[in-house]
Amino acid sequence: MEELRVTGGGHVGPIDSSRIPRYAGAATFARLPRLDQVDRADIAVVGVPFDSGVSYRPGARFGGNHIREASRLLRPYNPALDVSPFERVQVADAGDMAVNPFNINEAIETVQQNALDLTADGARLVTLGGDHTIALPLLRAAAERAGSPVAMLHFDAHLDTWDTYFGAEYTHGTPFRRAVEEGILDTEAISHVGTRGPLYGVRDLEDDRRFGFGIVTSSDVYRQGVDEVVDKLRQRIGDRPLYVSVDIDVLDPAHAPGTGTPEAGGITSRELLEILRGLRGLNLVGADVVEVAPAYDHAELTGVAASHVAYDLVTLMADTLTPAATTPEDQ
Ligand code: MN
Ligand code: MN
Repeated sequence: MEELRVTGGGHVGPIDSSRIPRYAGAATFARLPRLDQVDRADIAVVGVPFDSGVSYRPGARFGGNHIREASRLLRPYNPALDVSPFERVQVADAGDMAVNPFNINEAIETVQQNALDLTADGARLVTLGGDHTIALPLLRAAAERAGSPVAMLHFDAHLDTWDTYFGAEYTHGTPFRRAVEEGILDTEAISHVGTRGPLYGVRDLEDDRRFGFGIVTSSDVYRQGVDEVVDKLRQRIGDRPLYVSVDIDVLDPAHAPGTGTPEAGGITSRELLEILRGLRGLNLVGADVVEVAPAYDHAELTGVAASHVAYDLVTLMADTLTPAATTPEDQ
């Protein structure tokens, strides 16, 4: 079948859903072209089907394709930010990285190398997990491309700064302690958002604070509101290169049941999207959406939420990669 596509701004866009129904055909993210169907991409969406680092429910290895399926309903104009991201820049789906499910160290090396390869020509990555282990090699690649440690916003119910689990250094609960130890995070500008739930002890928080993390808890988002939270986060980040990592369990299980380590009392998908949109104009160099485990999802709730999060992240990147289009009134 011919792929009838929407084109605009000189870029190859999604399949035209007014001519080929949304539910038809193989799913790429937002029905965008595959990377091998375009010359190059300014933003590549890539999957990492890996969940060998999980500590509780497995299944996030199927997250990327679940998000792609749920992303069929995304439309090309983002009214919340007044941007048509796929016209502003070339966005493409780079498929999945082929990672070893039986060797975590090798998987981490593969993700790092693939991320460097995909960004060699200046492209930016939005990665669909996979469990949170993959944030470490993605941050390594982002810091290398930025030429400096990067600021980070980490949306998660959990800190993910534990030291080891069953003696293992590289798990989905430890990537950000490793990243601080490796010096790839700018510890003046790193924050967790949406944290909640029981910990092993107060030491968890003390360690985390020592590494430099700021914490905006789920309760803070509720009590202070989105605008105040956004102001605080932006002040800390400034104009630094920023990496955003979204563990979908930052959302309440009512909004994202399909995940491996759910905690009650989370933020809503509306709050998460509003905070992300509040980051407009920041120098977003890379992002991931991880921990979507479709076996525990219901009615595609988690997949739809994750696909919208990825869409807003792509839009924020597209917005900063190009000057805003001039309207007739501006001229
Ligand atoms: Mn988590
Ligand atoms: Mn996590």
